[in-house]
Amino acid sequence: MSKAKDALKKIFRERGFDDFKWIDPKQVIIAQWVRMKCTYGCPNYGEAASCPPNVPSVSDCREFFDEYDLAAIFHFSRSFDNPDDRHDWTRETSIQLLEVEKEVFLSGYVKTFLMFMDACELCEECTAIRADCKHPKRARPTPEAMGVDVFSTVRQIGYPIDVLKDYSDTMNRYAILLVE
Ligand code: SF4
Repeated sequence: MSKAKDALKKIFRERGFDDFKWIDPKQVIIAQWVRMKCTYGCPNYGEAASCPPNVPSVSDCREFFDEYDLAAIFHFSRSFDNPDDRHDWTRETSIQLLEVEKEVFLSGYVKTFLMFMDACELCEECTAIRADCKHPKRARPTPEAMGVDVFSTVRQIGYPIDVLKDYSDTMNRYAILLVE
């Protein structure tokens, strides 16, 4: 496995993704409360084609993660003077992460699957309906949309995360790449 991890690390680093940690996907915490927060309280609910309700059930998400032996959690830390600038950052990062996913897939990991660090923002306007998605091959859900308790999961492996009180606070965002 360490040889395989070294090869994967090389792919990540070539794209500038140095800040990541390995985790056993079975250690990723998935909980119903996360879906409840998406359903009641998130403005993306029903407005984003890769967010709930356009995602599998929480129990199906658990089963899905359990089908993998390895995951990389990528950490992104940024703050912005103008909060609107974060959308371009999200889009650019997602596009680069999709390149990583593609390269990992082409190197033989046929099951590899990416979760973006924020809601899919590949388009200026989301169609809100999965079947109408403008980039169905490239759109991906976030870990949160897949029921991942990102707070508890990343804290287990020593990554920082706090509730943000203001747009000027430093964000700690996380993307996940399942590999096998
Ligand atoms: S690719 Fe476009 S339409 Fe599809 S989920 Fe992302 S933003 Fe929405």
